[in-house]
Amino acid sequence: MYRSCFHMVTYTYLCKKLAGDRRERWAPLHTASYELPRELAHMENFKVVDFNSLSESVQELLKTASEVRKRAYIPYSNFAVGCAILTEEGKVYTGCNIENSTLSPTICAERTAIGKTVCDGYTKFKSVAVVAHQQDFTAPCGVCRQTLSEFRGSDGDMDIFLGKPSHDKVLVTKLSHMLPLAYVSFTKDNIVS
Ligand SMILES: [Zn+2]
Repeated sequence: MYRSCFHMVTYTYLCKKLAGDRRERWAPLHTASYELPRELAHMENFKVVDFNSLSESVQELLKTASEVRKRAYIPYSNFAVGCAILTEEGKVYTGCNIENSTLSPTICAERTAIGKTVCDGYTKFKSVAVVAHQQDFTAPCGVCRQTLSEFRGSDGDMDIFLGKPSHDKVLVTKLSHMLPLAYVSFTKDNIVS
């Protein structure tokens, strides 16, 4: 009991601390909520666009991510994230974040959706939408970026759309911009002795 309470208190503290740190690090250039993070503001590969300017299928993908977000299991952080994956075959799979009292088994919305997609036999992703509600856009964590990179589409990349439940602005980019120099598995031929 003491152990789990301690974990819960510690986790809550860490979540608040990290959220605070993140807010500071990702402080927008202006006071408006939908500016790009400072470090991305000069990059052409990250764009903030109006939700309505996106294609109907992308809007639908973002709405789907928003819907599954409501099912997030988040008793510790209360931070809900929804993800929707569109495969090259046109199939859509969803995931939400699922927390755990022992912390490390917690799984992100993206990897929940990836697992469902791959289990059904689809391994080429065309687009991924992630929706969460905070001032800044919520991007996949490093682990999820690497996991997504395993399932890039035929063009070697995938579109990423980061939205909010309000569906007003969306950050548009590609996985290759979020994870340059992704790890790829080694081959015997590639090893230098
Ligand atoms: Zn993640």
